[in-house]
Amino acid sequence: MAKFIFVTGGVISGLGKGIAAASIGLLLKNKGLKIAVEKFDPYLNVDPGTMSPYQHGEVFVTEDGGETDLDLGHYERFIGTNITKNCSFSMGQIYSEIIKKERKGSYLGGTVQVVPHVTDIIKNKIKALAESSKADVIITEIGGTVGEIEAEVFLEAIRQFKTEMGRENVMFIHLTLVPYLKISDELKTKPTQHSVKELQKHGINPDMLLCRADRHIPEELLNKIAMFCNIDTNYVFEGIDVDTIYDLPINFHDEEMEERICERLGIKTERKDIDEWKALVDNFKNPDKEVNIGLVGKYVALQDAYLSVSESLKHAGAHHKCKVNIEWINSEDIEANGVEKYLSKLDGIIVPGGFGNRGIEGKISAAKYAREHKIPYLGLCLGMQIAVIEFARNVCGLSNANSSEFGTYEHQVIDLMEAQVGISNKGGTMRLGSYPCTLKEGTKAHRAYGEDKINERHRHRYEFNNNYRDIMNNNGMILAGTSPDNMLVEIIELSDHPWFVASQFHPEFKSRLCEPHPLFRDFVGATIVK
Ligand code: GLN
Repeated sequence: MAKFIFVTGGVISGLGKGIAAASIGLLLKNKGLKIAVEKFDPYLNVDPGTMSPYQHGEVFVTEDGGETDLDLGHYERFIGTNITKNCSFSMGQIYSEIIKKERKGSYLGGTVQVVPHVTDIIKNKIKALAESSKADVIITEIGGTVGEIEAEVFLEAIRQFKTEMGRENVMFIHLTLVPYLKISDELKTKPTQHSVKELQKHGINPDMLLCRADRHIPEELLNKIAMFCNIDTNYVFEGIDVDTIYDLPINFHDEEMEERICERLGIKTERKDIDEWKALVDNFKNPDKEVNIGLVGKYVALQDAYLSVSESLKHAGAHHKCKVNIEWINSEDIEANGVEKYLSKLDGIIVPGGFGNRGIEGKISAAKYAREHKIPYLGLCLGMQIAVIEFARNVCGLSNANSSEFGTYEHQVIDLMEAQVGISNKGGTMRLGSYPCTLKEGTKAHRAYGEDKINERHRHRYEFNNNYRDIMNNNGMILAGTSPDNMLVEIIELSDHPWFVASQFHPEFKSRLCEPHPLFRDFVGATIVK
């Protein structure tokens, strides 16, 4: 039978519950256990795909086309196993499921209530994941902060879950904050005590505490927390601020956290080292060179909107022992002040994904600058469409070229696929999830992947317009990757350029520290030799 770990957070939000849960997953996987993870979010939105990147950061796309919370990205990056649509639920989705059932008459006129109906659905989702994943350990992160009204239903559900499944099969890990008070020069434990009391009020006694602090927490303070919170001393851990999130599993491992978890859940395993991970983190922290890469986007004020892109650059950097500095450039600033000011000192340029026409011309200028000045360029989804528009306008002489996403033009070099014409609803109409792509021999993409056929994740509505294949091709644009039936262009490259590659898919969702994505790896490589 599977074992279950629930991760909750207290005191304040933003303590890094997702990273902590992902690190625990990594350490348990390293011991040979099969891990599945899922996240419950307290908000009422039904479709995270339509939530603003300004508020929520990036939408992470899963293999099966799920549009999920960015924390799920950390799970994949750390644990290495693919997440599915069934690993992320908002309270909105849960309520909408119940209301649909009620409308269908499934409750036969009975009163529909938070307990047991909502809590049952939550518990069933956890059990369903255990069944479908056949994992040894299911890690469930409860979004939000204990004490918030929204979190209560989830807490009640997991309390019941433990009673049902048995104490030996369920473990609660709680993340809290131990703040430092400058005026008295001490770390304070009261917020943690209060947060644990709040959990206990819901019938949950945490088995393990992870105390976030900006400095080392002395042993006697950890003991004090253990005593006041009714937890074994060796189950109270400090979670000290780290230089990089990839340090966290190392710190946990050094404190033998995974051993305590296995002990608590009665799982027999041996101590395993994490030397491979440590070596990569060491590369990352001790680079012997450095490059500056400009990321030209729309949501640059909130860098979480491009989280997978910046993580992919870190992975590639660790591979090359190279520090990758990201310069966040708002494409509207380029429109206002010209490209030179922002791009002239860069070693590489990325235009990531995006929607809507704001700042488009600034991105087109960036692609032009990269092409003309032979600066390595990596285009991701919209970044490919931008490169195609730029090339059509300035190399093929189609001065009015554009994407039909932004209006009606004489040369709509980026356009809706036939099957999508006429659909204009928000959400749900995109090409989403993993699709195969055939690579052309002799291209940079083919060299990077070292394979003829790949699978990559998509999230977009518009495509390269096939009517323009010939003219683009004749002018030096290589169609380096297409769908296996050759109907869709998936990767373009420029022939007369050191490294200019752009993809209609989002490679950033598949990069891992131990396995940097080939396109990011070679892009960063190209910026080094430049
Ligand atoms: N807006 C473009 C489209 O829908 C690109 C989307 C993206 O970059 N993810 O096709």
